[in-house]
Amino acid sequence: MGTQPRPPVYILLGPPGAGKGTQARLLEERFGLLQLSTGDLLRAAVAAGTAAGRAAGAVMEAGGLVSDAIVIAVLKDRMAAPDTAVGVILDGFPRTAGQAGALDRLLADEGRTVAAAIALEVDDAAMVERIAGRFTCAGCGEGYHDSMKAPAVPGVCDRCGGTAFRRRADDRAETVAARLAAYHAETAPLIAHYERQGMLARVDAMGSIAEIAAALARIVAEPRARGEDPPVAASAEGSAGQGQGGTEGNPREKANG
Ligand SMILES: [Zn+2]
Repeated sequence: MGTQPRPPVYILLGPPGAGKGTQARLLEERFGLLQLSTGDLLRAAVAAGTAAGRAAGAVMEAGGLVSDAIVIAVLKDRMAAPDTAVGVILDGFPRTAGQAGALDRLLADEGRTVAAAIALEVDDAAMVERIAGRFTCAGCGEGYHDSMKAPAVPGVCDRCGGTAFRRRADDRAETVAARLAAYHAETAPLIAHYERQGMLARVDAMGSIAEIAAALARIVAEPRARGEDPPVAASAEGSAGQGQGGTEGNPREKANG
């Protein structure tokens, strides 16, 4: 165990439409966590001209797929930068169980593990209805929904009186269902990987943005016994600093709101 605090690493998993981007932003604002997407990481490393960045750049220029080893090297470099001190949220990595294993080994070299893999869970049928019901006014762009927000007068825009409406092809029920199926197929091995390790946290993502954010905040603020200090919410008192007990796997329920 190092004496120097290491940034906790969170992995955020969630299907398109689950609000992953919004929630990651809220975690950044509330805790000072830094969201790192694979694309941004690679582009920054290429621009910085690090050894790993040069290797990644050569592969990308040739139109190839950057190897897990290179992504891990880029990530390792990036996590040494001071702006990641509070912790990072990985977005888009790991994508396979192999990548998850590579990330585990990177962290194990520093005597630690991922802090949590958080899966935003949706009800697929409800999600399809939610997305496939969306449409907008072709005239003014006002957003509507078949069941949640229909125009007061059917077929007439509340805002501009227009009668032409648009639906995105991407929002068709079959398209949404296919996207969800692809997501489940891709993440199932990751979910299994982190579940085996006891690192998986499931969050019901069908609630309001505030409810989901509160559930995520509880997970992130949970004290850990893995050589890391949990990030402290910007709005909270600075009282959570020294809670490093040796109680492994103790699901601590915090009583505050
Ligand atoms: Zn309109």
